[in-house]
Amino acid sequence: MGHDTNYHMTTEEFRKHGYAAVDWVAGYLERLEEFPVLSTVAAGDVRAQLPPSPPESGEPFDAVLADVERVILPGITHWQSPNFFAFFPSNSSGPSILGDLVSAGLGVQGMLWATSPACTELEAHILDWLVELLALPDRFRSTTAGGGVIQDSASSATLCALIAARERATGGATNREGVRRRLTVYASTQGHSHIEKAVRIAGFGSDNFRLVAVDDALAMLPDALDDAVAADLSSGHTPTAAVATVGTTSTMAMDPLRAIGEVCRRHGMWLHVDAAMAGTAAVAPELRGFHEGLELADSYAFNPHKWMFTNFDCDAFFVADREALVSALTILPEYLHNAATESGAVTDYRDWQIPLGRRFRALKLWFVIRHYGAEGLRHHVRRHVELARRFASWVRDDDRFELLEPQHLNLVCIRHRDGEEATRRVLEHVNASGAYLTHTKIPDQTLIRMSIGGTWTELPHVERAWRLITENA
Ligand code: PLP
Repeated sequence: MGHDTNYHMTTEEFRKHGYAAVDWVAGYLERLEEFPVLSTVAAGDVRAQLPPSPPESGEPFDAVLADVERVILPGITHWQSPNFFAFFPSNSSGPSILGDLVSAGLGVQGMLWATSPACTELEAHILDWLVELLALPDRFRSTTAGGGVIQDSASSATLCALIAARERATGGATNREGVRRRLTVYASTQGHSHIEKAVRIAGFGSDNFRLVAVDDALAMLPDALDDAVAADLSSGHTPTAAVATVGTTSTMAMDPLRAIGEVCRRHGMWLHVDAAMAGTAAVAPELRGFHEGLELADSYAFNPHKWMFTNFDCDAFFVADREALVSALTILPEYLHNAATESGAVTDYRDWQIPLGRRFRALKLWFVIRHYGAEGLRHHVRRHVELARRFASWVRDDDRFELLEPQHLNLVCIRHRDGEEATRRVLEHVNASGAYLTHTKIPDQTLIRMSIGGTWTELPHVERAWRLITENA
């Protein structure tokens, strides 16, 4: 590169357009508050502005960037807006964006250690850093029998955990014979929908998935888990795995890990802990109580791509026994044979995940952790939690609204005391006014969820959301 090529973007052109693209992103972040969070386009509006066929001749980069502004931007829901309080944060940050840019520039595919040693070694190292940052059990460190790996999503992490659990429960038989056994999996009624999806994909079958009852705080009842396991044992099933959630999607409920872990130990079941949303809070020692008992877990996952300023996709997945995972997922065809793998001295992450290929995701996480430092991460997590507590206190002081207690971390769930219609009306008003909140139902009552974790969200944005909620109540 560096010389005039046919069709390619030269390095000089890349440099020039790269500066323009970074300028555009920086400008976008500066303009975030100008946009209503929710896109206002109607179905088909974006496509209607795109030519029906691809261009025969290449176009200038300026024209492409101009169309990002003209065609794409109106169709964007602004997840990075400080007024985004919907679902869960999917926050990003300067260092993360730049880490992804460098990853794309290197363009490596890290399926094997040999296909880019740094891709594997940085990842193993950063995942060990996360064990320290979050004070996770030592058995998840790569220097023990366990270790961590970056998955694309919490959904993939659970799927990998269930496949490893399946193989462990059957001594490897299901890999050879298929799942012809009645292996059962347990999660609370509040577990995320991806768990059942993983149960299906891993071949357990939805009929062998048990939803365990929860207590008033919406946390799994360990006794109910024990009863369900006993019932399955007496009817000839093989209880195989439980998925506990700390920080449920609907309300941030916390399953009691120690008691659940003890049930799992007693029955030889695999315990996977889904901390997709809440895990990041463990950077602050006073907030990490929900991990109590985590040393009983066989695997654990949380999403830096939710609350740790690392743009999608980046899920950190840890196992206590990497052999159980690797033996379930490894297949070594001739064309991947290489001296490093055969030496047994390296980790090949292709054996720790569903796809073969893998991006260099550790770069963006490395950039983020080095930029913020542990101190910076703690600062922002505490700030978000404090904003949520303030918001919750305003709700407690207002007779028109009811707060779901206990309120955990950065999520606040509320309803209008006048009932369903009033709650729905409030939500519609807020979302028509430029902010964005979403809802859940517990069990059949609508709750408005205020999820605070945006990189750029400050007190005035939270105050404005509360004003929008109350002004039409
Ligand atoms: N688990 C919990 C508790 C979640 O809140 C979510 C997010 O929606 C998920 C899992 C799914 O995450 P992912 O999109 O990384 O699969």
